[in-house]
Amino acid sequence: MTTSNRCVCPDCDWVVDVPVTTTEVFKCPRCGHRLGGGAPVSERHTLALALAALILALVSLWLPFVGYSASGVSQTMSLLDTSAELLHFHERLLAILVLFTVWVVPVLYLLAICWIFTRLLGSGPVGPVTLYFIRTVVQLRVWMMADVFLLGALVSLIKISGLAAVELASGFYTFIAFVVLQLWVANNVSRYQLWHRLPHQQAPQSEAGRAAHNQGLSGCVCCQAPNSPQHKKCWRCGETLSLTRWRGWRLTLALLIAAALLLVPAHVLPVMETTSFGRTQPNTIIGGVLELWQGGDAPIAIIVFVASLVIPVAKILTLLVLLYVAERGNDSTVKNRVVLYKVTDWIGRWSMIDIFVVAVLVALVRSGQLMSVYPGNAALAFALTVILTMLAAMTFDTRRFFMPTTK
Ligand SMILES: [Zn+2]
Ligand SMILES: [Zn+2]
Repeated sequence: MTTSNRCVCPDCDWVVDVPVTTTEVFKCPRCGHRLGGGAPVSERHTLALALAALILALVSLWLPFVGYSASGVSQTMSLLDTSAELLHFHERLLAILVLFTVWVVPVLYLLAICWIFTRLLGSGPVGPVTLYFIRTVVQLRVWMMADVFLLGALVSLIKISGLAAVELASGFYTFIAFVVLQLWVANNVSRYQLWHRLPHQQAPQSEAGRAAHNQGLSGCVCCQAPNSPQHKKCWRCGETLSLTRWRGWRLTLALLIAAALLLVPAHVLPVMETTSFGRTQPNTIIGGVLELWQGGDAPIAIIVFVASLVIPVAKILTLLVLLYVAERGNDSTVKNRVVLYKVTDWIGRWSMIDIFVVAVLVALVRSGQLMSVYPGNAALAFALTVILTMLAAMTFDTRRFFMPTTK
């Protein structure tokens, strides 16, 4: 039985021995990145909660989500209507994006968790299918946005509450329960504890307390095991090792430039069009913020303004600055740069609120007799901006911060 697990810190490339049995959070001594620890979760408990979340996800898709009535006309929408209506208006990419980030990806994640923990409850060896699902769980997490959608739905309901009587339906409450359970599972399943259960005997020779690249090794992007360059796949989790090459400043820069260019149509073109009493009015993202502000919903206006303009612009600028200073700073600022990168990386997904507001309003109001809401061209441009900035953050190689100080 091993007492520690040798891994390569994904943020700074340091080779570290992570104690397996500790319940305290274990951080990289060089950069502070979390590498292990945390209270072990009960396998039965996790399995039960993941199954409950799956059932709630299925139920939430079909049940009425929200209803509204205005001037004697009543309408309800289900969660599935958000994508169906976008599809109806030929916004295929947006429809797929909404359905995948809000429902499909979280459901795939929960199915993978159910498979993994069912296998772990048994005593047999971990097979290739289980390994595949463990890798999938790591990769899917970043694209789960049910919690962001919930906030977007609340913003859209506040937006429309001045024009119509809004009523939360049963699907809304089951969706909240699904989001809570899914967040619990995602935050409590420690992938470090999953890796420690796998065999260690094929690990290449390495020395703790030195950078991996100085020993001719590279860390697996998925499980952080040290790997020799002659291997194509990670000896422990089976991940393709060439994925490390995706992290490079040229790709990050290209993604950031594309995101910055798309931000222009995203804010100049209308994000949705509203027709009421025969009059069609295009709404830009900032126009929507001003409407909320003038309507007395200042806190919501600030949330939408921050999510739609401040976060994308700040994220692009921060990553550009970090790219420039990556290898130019000194030791004392390295940790600050890592923290800045992590905040930028974490906050980006919340910009999707705007897209979810449009999806909910289009599905809820549809082509009503008194009022209709249509998605505008800016919606796709804005969604692509968010995706590109997320990809830019994922391809950003934080190990470059530590290159000048590598001994
Ligand atoms: Zn580190
Ligand atoms: Zn691996």
